[in-house]
Amino acid sequence: MYDVTIIGYGPVGAMLAALLGAKGRKVLVVERDTDVYPLPRAVHMDHEVFRLISLVNADKAVMEISRPTSTYDFETADGDLLMGFAPPKEPAPTGYPWSNIFHQPTLEKAIRADVERHPSIEVRLGVEFKSYDDSAADHVKVSLSDNPDAPVETRYLVGCDGGRSPVRRQAGIGMDDLDFNEPWVVVDVLLADGMDVLHEASRQICDPRRPVTSIPIGHGRHRWEFMLLDDEVERDMTTKENLERLIAPQLPEGVTMAEIEVERSAVYTFHGVFAEKWRDGRVLLAGDAAHQMPPFLGQGLCSGVRDAANLAWKLDAILAGDASEALLDTVQPEREPQIRFITETAIGMGQVVCTHDIEQAAARDKEMCVGKREDRVNGMPPLPPVEAGGSDTPNAGLPLSKDAGLDTAAPYQPILILRSKGDAPASSSVPDLHVAWLTGEGALADKDGFLADQLANASALLARPDKIIFGTGDAAELLAEYARYLRADARMAA
Ligand SMILES: Cc1cc2nc3c(=O)[nH]c(=O)nc-3n(C[C@H](O)[C@H](O)[C@H](O)COP(=O)(O)OP(=O)(O)OC[C@H]3O[C@@H](n4cnc5c(N)ncnc54)[C@H](O)[C@@H]3O)c2cc1C
Repeated sequence: MYDVTIIGYGPVGAMLAALLGAKGRKVLVVERDTDVYPLPRAVHMDHEVFRLISLVNADKAVMEISRPTSTYDFETADGDLLMGFAPPKEPAPTGYPWSNIFHQPTLEKAIRADVERHPSIEVRLGVEFKSYDDSAADHVKVSLSDNPDAPVETRYLVGCDGGRSPVRRQAGIGMDDLDFNEPWVVVDVLLADGMDVLHEASRQICDPRRPVTSIPIGHGRHRWEFMLLDDEVERDMTTKENLERLIAPQLPEGVTMAEIEVERSAVYTFHGVFAEKWRDGRVLLAGDAAHQMPPFLGQGLCSGVRDAANLAWKLDAILAGDASEALLDTVQPEREPQIRFITETAIGMGQVVCTHDIEQAAARDKEMCVGKREDRVNGMPPLPPVEAGGSDTPNAGLPLSKDAGLDTAAPYQPILILRSKGDAPASSSVPDLHVAWLTGEGALADKDGFLADQLANASALLARPDKIIFGTGDAAELLAEYARYLRADARMAA
């Protein structure tokens, strides 16, 4: 019997597997393809997700091929600035740059390398999920293409099987469609030797004749995304001729098509959709299977990695007998509001970008291009905190700042941070709790003072294994509240 069977070995399935593997859980991963997805997808990752992938030792490999975003500019057809977003130059409290451009296959391979370290994980590539039977009370039978007549048995089944999610379909879970459907052709190119980037900023060129996204991935790679016009939707827009026709006008002066090699291309329709529920008994959904958004904020994969981090420790705690199964009902209410906010913001940005009515675009440009250009540049919009399960104390729901020593000592477990060792409660009913303190003998280094800032004026801070701050306040009260959260008492009483 497997503890958890994961359908789909994309970034979300891999992240979930690696986190469960680190807890020694018996995991089966089923993936119908034999290698990582080859077509162009995510290029942007925020600092929080860098922090999360550091838990599965994937941050260094990704950092080597990534570059911090300088600015994210929305431009008119003639290059004026509609709006710009500039992340701070100094690192975020997580220790990573706020906003990063990266290469998705490198990330997927790095997480898979971590999965391979765990003997308790079995990965079956080239095998397709067929169906499941969840009629038993304590497990699910899963039928796979490599042996359809001998279903595997698993305590929990998680569909990390992408936008079309066969698991979601079998569960009969409906979709809430936000009615944003825009077809784009996406192209990654390799630049000639010695060329790192074509330009510095990540650009949305809001030309009503053809909206274009142009992103310097760095390390000799560049991404273009071209919105398709009505008469192009049914045509093959990935032919060499069509791609050249689209790319050539975008090349900076002095660069020719001879210096560009198309690496990969694909047509996607960008959507905003949500699965109506992310749990049906022992069957769960995460990542694109549960929600999809247009890529204008570069947050689809980021959101899925956060789902995996939220889900893995809860599954582990339930399997260990340390938490009630009702804890699984916290995943969607904690994750969905943040993802809806991001999706709705991305759709709003998409509506600015995707205008192809010349008059509407002229009115938009007139309305937005007012005042000095530099006054139209803002900081990156912060993500709203997630619901963390505890009381609404300062910093609850925000990610815990990184402290290298603390991450090594307690990579994926609850952490109690005290002002001083003397603030420790006499006992705790929270399993696997790691206790650390900021002053006195054996104190954390807290090199940049970020943890002290997050503690604010409280004597204790409790963080969940997914590095989300549960709350700040009195240590004994926080621990009692967390123990109730694990047992789901608070929700049953509500
Ligand atoms: C053009 C574009 C740009 C994007 N840009 C960004 C960005 O900048 N930043 C960002 O964060 N996100 C971005 N995204 C979104 C991001 O790529 C996705 O959110 C992410 O890949 C989803 O990961 P996942 O693991 O949930 O699903 P997937 O990566 O789709 O993985 C699902 C896996 O399930 C497998 N599978 C499906 N059915 C079966 C079956 N029956 N049996 C076995 N296996 C099965 C599939 O083969 C696949 O490997 C972008 C997406 C696109 C299309």
